[in-house]
Amino acid sequence: MEVTLGPGETHYLAHVMRARTGAAIALFNAESGEWRARLTLAGRAPARARIEDLLRPPCPEPDLWLVFALLKRVASELVVQKATELGVAAILPVLAGHGVAERFNHGRAAVIAREAAEQCERLSLPVIHSPRPLAAVLAGWPERRRLIAAIERAAPGTPAPRPAPGPAALLVGPEGGFTPAELDALSAHPFVERASLGPRILRAETAAIAGLALLQVPSSPL
Ligand code: SAH
Repeated sequence: MEVTLGPGETHYLAHVMRARTGAAIALFNAESGEWRARLTLAGRAPARARIEDLLRPPCPEPDLWLVFALLKRVASELVVQKATELGVAAILPVLAGHGVAERFNHGRAAVIAREAAEQCERLSLPVIHSPRPLAAVLAGWPERRRLIAAIERAAPGTPAPRPAPGPAALLVGPEGGFTPAELDALSAHPFVERASLGPRILRAETAAIAGLALLQVPSSPL
């Protein structure tokens, strides 16, 4: 079977990898897994490749989402990259009361996620949503999905994020923290669990990485 590659892949193969017709490459997607393929047409036109053997079967990622308050551009991009490496299935940027009024460059986030997926050898890409107000995300929340809210300065005894079977999501607030009204709104929802990441006040991006790492700790080997 032959496949036609997209413009991004064509450019990458021709100008970054300098791959020529006949070169062996690896292609992957979430549904089919990873396949060895041979370039049958390289260069300016959309590249084409002939699929040869299966290298890795598809492997589902954990059903874990990240909901994070939009940060400054560089920090948001770091969060997208690290969340992808940590296997999240969806990334939902949200607008929170104390958040920055920064634009979210969706196209750039998609490129970062794709590069991170390739680098860490995951076969699927996270779904990246457009930013929405936190209240709107909470109002439309799927009730059966746990929402683990990382709360700084939480009451003593607040547990760390704990993995459990079934759909889950981590929520991280903005650099300014959640507003009192947002904390009240979170408490009002039965699907929200408060979690602490320890006594230090972490940068939001550190909290996202640490929280996702804790939610990954598997009961069976990785
Ligand atoms: N300006 C706030 C800190 C916000 S930290 C203050 O001084 O209190 C940004 C986000 O990271 C928080 O909203 C929270 O979601 C997360 N976070 C930071 N440290 C944390 C901790 N120790 N435990 C849980 N969440 C934390």
